[in-house]
Amino acid sequence: MEKEKGLLIVLSGPSGVGKGTVRKAIFDDPATDFEYSISMTTRNKREGEVDGVDYFFKTREEFEALIKADAFIEYAEYVGNYYGTPVQYVRDTMDAGKDVFLEIEVQGARQVRKKFPEALFIFLAPPTLEHLEQRLIGRGTESQEVIQNRINEARKEVEMMNLYDYVVINDEVSVAKEKVQTIVEAEHLKRERIEARFRKMILEAK
Ligand code: 5GP
Repeated sequence: MEKEKGLLIVLSGPSGVGKGTVRKAIFDDPATDFEYSISMTTRNKREGEVDGVDYFFKTREEFEALIKADAFIEYAEYVGNYYGTPVQYVRDTMDAGKDVFLEIEVQGARQVRKKFPEALFIFLAPPTLEHLEQRLIGRGTESQEVIQNRINEARKEVEMMNLYDYVVINDEVSVAKEKVQTIVEAEHLKRERIEARFRKMILEAK
């Protein structure tokens, strides 16, 4: 029987929300059984980072040649550097029946949504969003300007959410990690997926 294709899982969210930390916790857990897609970037290697493990580090020229060669599912320029998801690895891994996990910023996630509308999109939100209400009315000691800034930030974050399937508030890394794992498990149990698999089996058994 032909193997069922793996899922494409996208974890994204506003800058500074802790996407990288949650991703590391997910992949440090031996129970995780999806594959991390290592991105390419033109930014400088940070201390302790390893080429081919944390990122594939490229020059701008190399990266731009890869863009021309259509080698990315998505790419974005973020704080002056390119970041992109190589298409080959993602396709091969999904075709082999394994789930692929991307941890990318929001412009990239938007591109993936267009190309793979069936992918699973998880938005990581800051805990400040959950506590916004208390923070807005709370002590009543904040200036109008501070409150207005919080409202503006929150509005941007809520607007960003609309292309995602799930929202995980990152108040504690281990909890956020478990929530992501649970969402992926639940996605595999979707009636449509299971029904399609059985239908195929029955057809092939005829
Ligand atoms: P950093 O430079 O701190 O490793 O990552 C900066 C930002 O780039 C993070 O928000 C991270 O999620 C995002 N990022 C990492 N890899 C990719 C990628 O392949 N594509 C996109 N669009 N963003 C990425």
